[in-house]
Amino acid sequence: MENALIKTAKFGGSSLADAGQFRKVRDIVTSDQTVRYVVASAPGKRFAGDVKVTDMFYECYGCSYDNLKFGELFGKIKNRFNSIIEELGIDYSLEKEYEEIEDSLRHSTGRDYSASRGEYLNGKILAAYLGFDFIDAFDMVFFREDGSFDSEKTNAVLSERLKNSVRAVIPGFYGSMPNGTVKTFSRGGSDVTGSIVARASQSDIYENWTDVSGFLVADPRIVDNPKTIRAITYRELRELSYMGASVLHEEAIFPVRTCGIPINIRNTNTPDEPGTMIMPSCPADGNGEITGIAGKKGFSVINIEKDLMNMQHGFGRKVLSVLENSGINYEHLPSGIDTMSVIVNTEDIAPYRNMVMNNICTTVEPDSISIEDGIALIAIVGRNMARAKGTAARILRAVADADVNVRMIDQGSDEINIILGVDENDFERAIRAIYAKFEERI
Ligand code: ASP
Repeated sequence: MENALIKTAKFGGSSLADAGQFRKVRDIVTSDQTVRYVVASAPGKRFAGDVKVTDMFYECYGCSYDNLKFGELFGKIKNRFNSIIEELGIDYSLEKEYEEIEDSLRHSTGRDYSASRGEYLNGKILAAYLGFDFIDAFDMVFFREDGSFDSEKTNAVLSERLKNSVRAVIPGFYGSMPNGTVKTFSRGGSDVTGSIVARASQSDIYENWTDVSGFLVADPRIVDNPKTIRAITYRELRELSYMGASVLHEEAIFPVRTCGIPINIRNTNTPDEPGTMIMPSCPADGNGEITGIAGKKGFSVINIEKDLMNMQHGFGRKVLSVLENSGINYEHLPSGIDTMSVIVNTEDIAPYRNMVMNNICTTVEPDSISIEDGIALIAIVGRNMARAKGTAARILRAVADADVNVRMIDQGSDEINIILGVDENDFERAIRAIYAKFEERI
């Protein structure tokens, strides 16, 4: 085993929603002996309109005072797990665990404890079904007093433990606080656990199994049948995720990124498809001029004008300090000689809008200042754009031909992204036009 490949595979809620999905997971795991560590989510939705077990547990926590409602809900949760066990035909019982959990919930243990039980119970079933060890994340994943994740302690304890287990299932999403209570990551956090386990086991690859065949080049609600991204770097992924593309929890890349472990997004329902590889760096492969397009609505632009602004020392800093004092982040900062625009999230500035505008006025005494809402930002991301010629021209040609006015253009210093600001009404049209222009070059 010494130098053999090691894989960590995380299966999401839809991949473990019922017995049928469990069977697919077993086929995937048993057909690849290098999969040594499996991270399990709680059972997700089986069909549109179904309820995730995690949501059932949250609801359970909220009604532990109401005997009748609690009993009914907890009964439904037990039925979901029991039907998985029965349909799999395994000789296994969770009665002891149910009793313990019911008792804890009735004595008002925390909300996170309740939410975490979906992963805990599903992990136990999966371990029994696969014949793997069960390692409770409570004993291995640690948070600090202030609620932040304690990466060093977790990695030290977990890596020692994993050395003693050839194959194991670890429930995702939760860990423990120094005071011995359960704490969860934010929603979708089993992705983070998968990454933590991959790092601690020094896996060669972190497979993240879900219900889509990887990252798409553009949002399928906007573009018909967009292509799948085959390979993407961590940095490109950050840019796209920040602008709204989501398949993976935002924090999931950090543990594996530190040691360069690639993440492979795969589809449990079509396991033959290669999915998307997320890597520290990808070969610049000639084609693939852009990697992905993502965007978000809901931005506002503060326009500031002042004659001879360019001569005033500290003008920009003073404007930004007004935002900082109200705890508002800015997104972009396009400027001219005597003009400066600050793009901010409309929702973030809403409670402080008048105060911020007044404070900018008193701090820098502009000739004019205004704020406009309804701006959408579009990020065109691609490692191959760096030092390539003509990409920006092609993007602007595409939006101009689609009759879209560009309100702002920004390019990151690493040249892997170009951000356009457009009116929200033009958002979808602009994305479709850019995708169409680059479709052949992706
Ligand atoms: N079950 C949790 C949720 O629904 C965590 C996860 O699935 O990753 O958010």
